Amino acid sequence: MQPESEPNPEPGKATRIIHNRRHKDSLGSPYSPVYNTTTYRFADTASLQNVIEGRMPGNLYTRWGSNPTIRELEQGLASLEDADDALAFASGMAAISATLFAHGRNGIVCIGDLYGGTQELLTKHLQPLGIPVTFLLQNECEQLASALNVPGMLVYCETPANPTLGILDIRKLAQQAHSGDALLAVDNTFASPVNQRPLALGADFSIHSATKFLGGHSDLTAGAVMASADHIRPIAQWRKNLGQILAPETAALLSRSLRTLPVRVRQHNENAMAVARAMQNHPAIKRVLYPGLPDFPGHSLASQQMEGFGGVLTLELNGGREKAAKVADSLKVFLLATSLGGVESLVSQPCATSHHGISREERERRGITDGMLRLSIGLEDAKDLIADLNQALGQL
Ligand code: PLP
Repeated sequence: MQPESEPNPEPGKATRIIHNRRHKDSLGSPYSPVYNTTTYRFADTASLQNVIEGRMPGNLYTRWGSNPTIRELEQGLASLEDADDALAFASGMAAISATLFAHGRNGIVCIGDLYGGTQELLTKHLQPLGIPVTFLLQNECEQLASALNVPGMLVYCETPANPTLGILDIRKLAQQAHSGDALLAVDNTFASPVNQRPLALGADFSIHSATKFLGGHSDLTAGAVMASADHIRPIAQWRKNLGQILAPETAALLSRSLRTLPVRVRQHNENAMAVARAMQNHPAIKRVLYPGLPDFPGHSLASQQMEGFGGVLTLELNGGREKAAKVADSLKVFLLATSLGGVESLVSQPCATSHHGISREERERRGITDGMLRLSIGLEDAKDLIADLNQALGQL
């Protein structure tokens, strides 16, 4: 008897992202051409009107997001997190600000540590516009229900958070947000869609600085939001009128990067774990903050909601700002630079870079100390990264 043929399995993420293309060309290129255009010619006014009034599909003007290269990127971004739809932006901050304007006007409740730029946007721009913003520490989640005092608010968080790598329970936060008639947005930049899919855990928005792991080579600035089509629509309006679209050339470069995302992130995870383990018992280090270490406070939660622990870790040195600066200055393989998620390893001191705009008291309240060094672990040989850290720590 002939064996029954296997049903066609659903293609995996790596397969989908490599074969994500909307346009086949007559030359047989495996990838779509880049539509480096701002506008589109119509045969007659009636056709233009059909498109502008939504009766016919078609492209009008790239700032509105209607560009085949950008739409192809967005299709790829959506498929990475099994989302209905996605929007691409000129930066991570553009993605965050458009989402907050579109869905946060009734009030925003932030939980845990946030990227310094997001914190600045909330306190220096959105609060003065009259948007109510509440900040809860990671261990104050029980105050969420009372903070959600108006229907239609937005709960906003990062997990793992910058730079403490604090882990929040996305499933629980989504339940709490929804029972308070609010939506939940998660900045998923540190994890990347390979390690964590907030929408699958109940969140309503997954936001990325695509400048980081999605781009992966420190050569482009971009952002992304993944969500349901209904939640995406108002964000697209804000993106259009704030003029936050990215260039088609950047979209093509980012689509190129997405094709290697799964393999890159797996290696980032592996290298970061090796470095975290090697630094754990170093006498110059007080604490290694990395969700993959069994004694890290968020480890068991991270193991449940993440498929990998990511490429970022923070070392807290015995000593303050000067000692941390000395180690950073002595590193030879790690580059002293802000940002993360590229193929090259980077070191930065949060109090001097990502969290420079936040007062010292607020940093201390959040446990962000002057002796911290944030490491973005790249794709070099892990043994070389460990040797570099050992030689720099040896200078103290
Ligand atoms: N979210 C996180 C967690 C970040 O680390 C950053 C930048 O460092 C951003 C958002 C902002 O991204 P961009 O610099 O692409 O605007």
